[in-house]
Amino acid sequence: MSQSWHKEKHFSNRNNWLRAGVLGANDGLISTASLLMGMAAADPNHHTLLLSGIAAMISGAASMAAGEYVSVSSQRDTEAADLRKEMDSLTKYPEVELEELTAIYRQRGLDENLAQQVAQAMTKHNALEAHAREEIGITEVSKANPLQAAFASALAFSCGAIMPVLLSFLTSSIWLMMVLAITTILGLAILGCISAHLGGAPKSPAVIRIVILGAFALALTSIMGHILGIIF
Ligand SMILES: [Zn+2]
Repeated sequence: MSQSWHKEKHFSNRNNWLRAGVLGANDGLISTASLLMGMAAADPNHHTLLLSGIAAMISGAASMAAGEYVSVSSQRDTEAADLRKEMDSLTKYPEVELEELTAIYRQRGLDENLAQQVAQAMTKHNALEAHAREEIGITEVSKANPLQAAFASALAFSCGAIMPVLLSFLTSSIWLMMVLAITTILGLAILGCISAHLGGAPKSPAVIRIVILGAFALALTSIMGHILGIIF
């Protein structure tokens, strides 16, 4: 039983990566498409529209990458600092640390003898690992590489952003807003479906949610673009 639980957990970890990718694509699609809708509604020429689409894609991808890099790095630094502190304490005060671990097991419902036995066995096997898990809650030292994570999220964002950019390249201005709206909603529905599937959640609520939010974002930027286009 414990083995199947273990497998399940790893499966869900891998899904988390995929879901992060889908969410990144979602971001790229919705933000670039809304920007293009706003620009198209303000009625700039096709050339300006294309340039803004490409600029939105690049700046969005760069910002996703920077955010991810910072977040993964600081997560790693925090973990490393925690582990260093724990290692230090284990070397200096092994008795205190053993008592600490025993107390944790006692709190989880083991009786005094058993708690002591488990704490001693764990300490003997791998003291740092036991303290990291039971005390700090680090089950697995995160192996995420900040650069890799940054690249992955920039790529995910670009995958979502490239569709509206390509469409505005290929579609004439008259049809662009309609084509953008339809394909974006469709794209969001597909991404919502994939995301729900990966998370093991029901698909319809996820799809309805993202479609409504996406339509709202597109409508809002088109209206704003239209108004601003008149004012300026
Ligand atoms: Zn400790």
